[in-house]
Parts: sequence; C-alpha cells; structure tokens
Amino acid sequence: MTTTETTAIKGGEFLIRDTHASEIFTPEDFNEEQKMIRQQCEDFLAKEVWPKLDEIDSMKNPRLMPEILDKAGELGLLGTSVPQELGGFGMDFNTSMLVAEVLGAGHSVAVAVSAHTGIGTLPILYYGNDAQKQKYIPKLASGEWKAAYCLTEPDSGSDANSGKTKAVLSKDGKHYLITGQKMWITNGGFADIYVVFAKIDNDKNLTGFIVERSFGGITMNEEEKKMGIKGSSTRQIFFNDCPVPVENMLSERENGFKIAVNILNIGRIKLGVAAIGGSKATLSKAINYAKERKQFGTSIANFGAIKYKLAESAVKIYASESAHYRASQNIDDAYNAFIAGGMESGKARLKALEEFAIECAILKVHGSEVLDYVTDEGVQVYGGMGFSAEGPMDRAYRDARINRIFEGTNEINRLLTIDMLLKRAMKGTLDLMGPAMAVQKELMGIPDFGAGEEEGLFVKEKKALANLKKAGLMAAGAAVQKFMMKLSDEQEILMNLADMLIEGYVAESVLLRVEKLIQQRGEKACEIEKEMAIIYLHEAIEKAASAGKSAVTSFAEGDELRLMLLGLKRFTKIETYNLKNARRKVADYMIEKGKYPF
Ligand SMILES: Cc1cc2nc3c(=O)[nH]c(=O)nc-3n(C[C@H](O)[C@H](O)[C@H](O)COP(=O)(O)OP(=O)(O)OC[C@H]3O[C@@H](n4cnc5c(N)ncnc54)[C@H](O)[C@@H]3O)c2cc1C
Repeated sequence: MTTTETTAIKGGEFLIRDTHASEIFTPEDFNEEQKMIRQQCEDFLAKEVWPKLDEIDSMKNPRLMPEILDKAGELGLLGTSVPQELGGFGMDFNTSMLVAEVLGAGHSVAVAVSAHTGIGTLPILYYGNDAQKQKYIPKLASGEWKAAYCLTEPDSGSDANSGKTKAVLSKDGKHYLITGQKMWITNGGFADIYVVFAKIDNDKNLTGFIVERSFGGITMNEEEKKMGIKGSSTRQIFFNDCPVPVENMLSERENGFKIAVNILNIGRIKLGVAAIGGSKATLSKAINYAKERKQFGTSIANFGAIKYKLAESAVKIYASESAHYRASQNIDDAYNAFIAGGMESGKARLKALEEFAIECAILKVHGSEVLDYVTDEGVQVYGGMGFSAEGPMDRAYRDARINRIFEGTNEINRLLTIDMLLKRAMKGTLDLMGPAMAVQKELMGIPDFGAGEEEGLFVKEKKALANLKKAGLMAAGAAVQKFMMKLSDEQEILMNLADMLIEGYVAESVLLRVEKLIQQRGEKACEIEKEMAIIYLHEAIEKAASAGKSAVTSFAEGDELRLMLLGLKRFTKIETYNLKNARRKVADYMIEKGKYPF
C-alpha cells in the first residue's frame, strides 16, 4: 500500500467507503524482522513469565515484577516505539502492536508492561518538551525507571476531567505543590515516575505533570485486593504537597485532559490487540485439553458441542486480529503522510492516532469481549478443571475481566464511537449524510433481487456486507433525525448503533484479509480461513439485525416503523450457509494442529 493511496483513508470512513483487499495490512504481511521480534517476545514469556505466574500473583516478592520489567528492558521490549535518538528502537506502530499482542498472553506482566510503555511513557514522549524527553525517555525505554499514570480518583473514574487533585504554585514560584488522592494506579507500588493529572487553582481542566517518586510528599495504601491480574501492582496514591518543579509541567496548563484522552486512545487499540494475544494462548490450551480429556470413551474434542466452542473462539480471534492490524497500518500510513508533509514525529503520531480514534474505540471493545468469550468457553471446555484454582483457566478467566473496565469502560467506548462519528459528520470531515439519504431513497424503491448472479470471490458476502453498512446508516440516520441533539440521552440506542458499527468493521476486515490471503496463496490453501470469514460475516449480520431492530423499535412507530423493519430485513438478508459444517472444519483443523494455528 502506498502512502498516496492510504492518505485517502479517513478514520470512520469504512462505513461509507469500499476498501480493497490490496489496501489492508494483514498479519501475513509481517516481515522477517517483525517475525524475529515476535519470537523474542514469545521466548521472554516462556523464560521469564510463565514459569513464575504463581509467584508473580502471590505478590510475596514486591521486587519480582520490577525485575521482570528490567529483563524486558534489557531485551529492548520496553523501547520498541521510542525513537532511536531517545534510546529506543524507533519501530513503526504495527510492530509495537505485535509486541503488545504477544506479551498480551503474559497475564499481570502484560498489564505492567503496557502501563509502563503506554500510559506511563507516552505522555512524556508525545507531549514532553526536549529537556523532559532527554531526561526521562531513555531511562524509561531501558526500564531503569518504571512509570505509572495517575488519572483516576475515588470520585472521578469515567468522568476523568472531574478530578479534585490540586496543584498550587509555591510562594517562590519554583514548584507546583500537588495534593490529592489517586486510585487504581497500575505499577503504583514500584514506579519511579508518575504522570499525574491535577487542576491548577480553580481551573476547569486538568494539567499534566511529571512527578518523580523522589520528590517526596507521596504516600500510598497497601496493594489492592483484586479479582484478577493479582500480580499487577495497583495502589491508591496520596500526594501531600508533593513539590514538582515548574519545568515538570507537561505541555501547557489545562492541556491535561486532552493528553489523558489521546494517550488512552493509543492504549485502547493496544489493549485490544493484547486481548487477542491472550485469547490465542487460552484457546490453544483449550484445544489441547479437549484432545486429551476423554469422556464416554472418546476425546471430548470429538463432540460437536465442544467443536462449536473451539471454532467460535477461533473465528472471533481471527476476525478481531484482522481488524486490529488493518487499523494499525492505517495509523502508520497516516503518520508517514504527516511526516512527509513536514510534521514533527510525536505530533504526527498523535494526529494519526486521533484520526483513527473511532477504530481504536471499536477495537478496545471488540478485543476485550472476544477475550471474555474465549476464556469463558475455555473454562467450559475444561469442565470442573476449568473451575479449579489449580488449572490454567482460573487465572485466564479472572485476568480477562478487567479489560472491559480500564482504558475507558466498554460502555464509554461504545458511546464514543458513535459520538466521534457524528461529530465528524457534523464537521463535514465524513460525508455520512449523502450515503444515509441514499439508503432512505433505496428503502422507498424496489428491492434489488439481482444479487448472487455474478461469479467471483465473496461476491455475495460483499453485497451482504454493503447491506449491513446500509442497515447501520439507516438506523443511525433515523435516530439522529428523531432525537437531534438529544440523541446522547438515548444510550440504549447508541449502544445498539455502536454494535452495528463494530460488527460491520470487523466483518469487513476479516473478509478483506482472507481475500488478500487467497490472492497470495490460492483458494485451496485458504479453505479454513475462508470458512472463518463467512462464519463471522453471518454472525455479524445476525447481531446487526438484532441491534438494529432493538434500536428502531425504541423510537419509531406505525408506518415509519414498518418501513424500517422491512428495510432492516432487506439489508440483513444473507443466503443461508451450513455454518455447522463450516465450524466443524475450523475445529477439526485446529484439533489436528493442537493449537490456534492461524
Ligand atoms: C486493575 C485496575 C487498574 C487500573 N489502572 C489505572 C491506572 O493505571 N491509571 C488510572 O488513572 N486509572 C486506572 N484504573 C481506573 C480505570 O480506568 C477506571 O476504573 C475506569 O475508568 C472506570 O472508572 P470507575 O471505576 O470509576 O467506574 P465508574 O466511572 O464509576 O463506572 C461505573 C459503571 O458506570 C458506567 N458509566 C459511567 N459513566 C457512564 C456514562 N456517562 N454513560 C454510561 N455509563 C457510564 C461505566 O461504564 C461502568 O459500567 C484502573 C482500574 C483498575 C480496576
């Protein structure tokens, strides 16, 4: 994909744009260097993390986690996205996604690494001035210093800008004295550097500060007792007149909320891909257990009910992975285009991420919900052993759950996807009105019965996908017309619309990935992948139909409702396919390979 081609792709545009398979990046496109990095991450987990999971979760040795981070630092895993001149490896976003994916199978260590490299380091990398970057980034990239991010407070969670922590300029004008309580701070117990958000005097908005533990005035509670990720340090931190030199303010006064939001945005897509890494590891375990466990004289992997769970898990993982790397390449391409236009690197990275903020929110939701599905079914495949604290599913199940809560809860991210999309439409960045009007017009016209006559790869599926998008546009357009500015009060409808959007994006991504794969390897070599794409599309359409129905029936009545229900039926129609057989093929292939093999 060339830069000129990709600069044309805008965030959120997938809803109204036909993307070609050649335009998307797929995990099959990773080069040799990236594959080596993947291997290095796998080796790190196998040597430093998996044998120590119980010890890590016991929290008996508070030095263990920082020591593991030191090892990750020695291997260069903490500096992949840091520029070379600041002590990192200056790799592209896609490569840092790959690292996040593989390390995502590292349970509490995955959380510690991602908090350090993401929300801990990136505010300084992207918003710090030169002196701040020179002072902090090399030590963070090497792991010599560990970082934490202090935004949440007891009374300020999802409503992050409402924090009460205060920063007051000292009499001599040299320091800000920070006072307040932060909560749920990952890496809090051992971090050397805290990125802290506080309000100066009576400001409306937050300001960011780089706070060194050694500044003093910092105390903390004991480690939180949590349902999962027990080995990840999570503390309440108290700042008591903590003196922060004025030169440690990040960016400008009152720019903190913007920093916090933009940094969480990067974290979202990384969290999504890490969840996919965790899902793959969990599914591989479930496949092996299903092969080994015998009941009624045969391996449970021979039962259709078990094959269904294994196949469904694989389909969701494969589809989500396709969408993650599609988006991350879009981000890299947008970055390259900004750089080519003369923009500074940090700014270009942020602008590129901001452009694809809708996709980042979608992927956070999808990745974390795939992980929950896979771990839940993993427990089920293991049966009683799944419920045993001695088995591997116990930790996987408990650790998975947090992903729907942090980096913006999935409710907040669903709301954001639609909010951002509508804002882009209102600003004129995305022409949603034109396509939405066209759908309304089509609804009044005679249905097109000509589908399915053309020959070729995924012709019917692509038609069904285009219709799925129309269903979304129809429901969203009608809701906007009905509620106008009051739509934000109708959260149930917004959740439905978000689900339609999410399913459309992921279904398109997996279809395009498999189409590209078939172009590269031939249809015969991609038989299983093709089944997976078709299964996902069918399920996506079913979900969109249900979400769409739920949305329109909550605000339309009479003829208008009848017309929209007819429209939904028309736009979510797909020729029947034997999904049971398709799932069996996927499951049998994985059972033969003894792992998630794609
Ligand atoms: C283990 C762990 C580690 C964490 N690490 C960090 C960290 O390192 N740094 C940091 O700053 N924070 C961290 N957090 C905090 C985390 O980001 C917050 O928990 C999260 O943002 C949700 O805030 P809350 O817990 O206050 O929930 P609330 O905001 O009280 O939400 C409760 C429920 O209400 C819903 N809700 C809230 N507002 C709305 C709305 N407007 N519309 C619809 N539904 C809504 C939520 O979706 C949720 O279901 C961590 C949390 C945990 C549990």
